Amino acid sequence: MDRPLLNRRLAEFGTTIFAEMSALAVRTGAINLGQGFPDTDGPEEVREAAVRALRDGRGNQYPPGPGIPELRAAIAAHQERFYGHLGLSCDPDTEVLVTTGATEAIAASLLALLEPGDEVIALEPYYDSYAACIAMAGGRRVPVTLRPRPESGTYALDLDELRDAVTDRTRLLLLNSPHNPTGTVLTRDELAEIARLACERDLLVVTDEVYEHLVFEGAHLPLASFPGMRERTVTIGSAGKTFSFTGWKIGWVTAAPELVAAVRSAKQFLTFTSGGPFQYALAEALALPDSYYAGFLNDLRAKRDLLGDGLRAAGFEVYQPQGTYFVTTDIRPLGHTDGHAFCRALPERAGVVAIPNAVFYDHQEQGAPFVRFAFCKKTEVLQEAVDRLKGLAA
Ligand SMILES: *Cc1c(COP(=O)(O)O)cnc(C)c1O
Repeated sequence: MDRPLLNRRLAEFGTTIFAEMSALAVRTGAINLGQGFPDTDGPEEVREAAVRALRDGRGNQYPPGPGIPELRAAIAAHQERFYGHLGLSCDPDTEVLVTTGATEAIAASLLALLEPGDEVIALEPYYDSYAACIAMAGGRRVPVTLRPRPESGTYALDLDELRDAVTDRTRLLLLNSPHNPTGTVLTRDELAEIARLACERDLLVVTDEVYEHLVFEGAHLPLASFPGMRERTVTIGSAGKTFSFTGWKIGWVTAAPELVAAVRSAKQFLTFTSGGPFQYALAEALALPDSYYAGFLNDLRAKRDLLGDGLRAAGFEVYQPQGTYFVTTDIRPLGHTDGHAFCRALPERAGVVAIPNAVFYDHQEQGAPFVRFAFCKKTEVLQEAVDRLKGLAA
């Protein structure tokens, strides 16, 4: 066969870096701070709820395509509880769609909303599925790069650059705040400006807010709550991130009825439905008291500080995350400039695995000296990682 098997749309996307780095972690026995999955499961009562559903025969056969009514009601109640004061609420029957993780929500949204050739603006560095899903939908990605600001130790969005990236072919903004991998949380002013731009240029927005409950300073502001955004925004959440059950792959979309109907059209032919018993369990999880959400946030904040201080002590320049469970570092103070080479050698040198940020860029050189560590791990694991990394400073 002369023709390559993998089609041109996907040819540029090899195996994800996470597979390579996780295999390296296993082979070397290094502590894996690469892939962002928690090393402790979520609340025991939520696991028990899944067991009960499974035993009681709830969800063992095809659940409804849009999600079980109990979970859609719980998602709507969650939106009302956390964002009702911002004027956001949603109808569980027409404005909520349960998906196979945020990953399917992103894929279905792009497959549903894009025509081939439509331009999609995404904030670079970006989550690895964005580029592949834009490509599968036949869209053209247009990166707008978040720039490191060493003086403040944060990343910043250049609103002029975003404005200039919009053309007559731009159909959609694909946003992510809190932002993986940089930990950036877009400010109220930035979100307001993005909303103005979207309205002015009549753009759709898909906003990945899977880290909505991991904003360390201040509160999460959904983009959909800004003027004019309700009818043009698809908002994505994930139980994997909020309840530390990443293997259950339950996510959701909330949006106006026309948008939900469009996304559902694509979703029904991807998986149709998934995770029956887990849907019942997560309906209960979303209703957990405020103490759960506060405890989760406080735990991750303490872990952010533990790892951040340790990385600083080891000689990294640390970009303090305002949200998510990732921290981006600059390796140049350690005398390195190539994050790829650094991450390949780190397991042998220090017994720790991290991810080179370059993989999250179209403009790889922009991310070259940056490396991402995940801190959604047990305190003793982070402490051990910090102890191992100390050797780098010597
Ligand atoms: C983890 C993650 C996802 C995927 O979420 P799932 O619910 O596991 O599919 C999507 N977007 C971002 C930014 C993530 O970090």
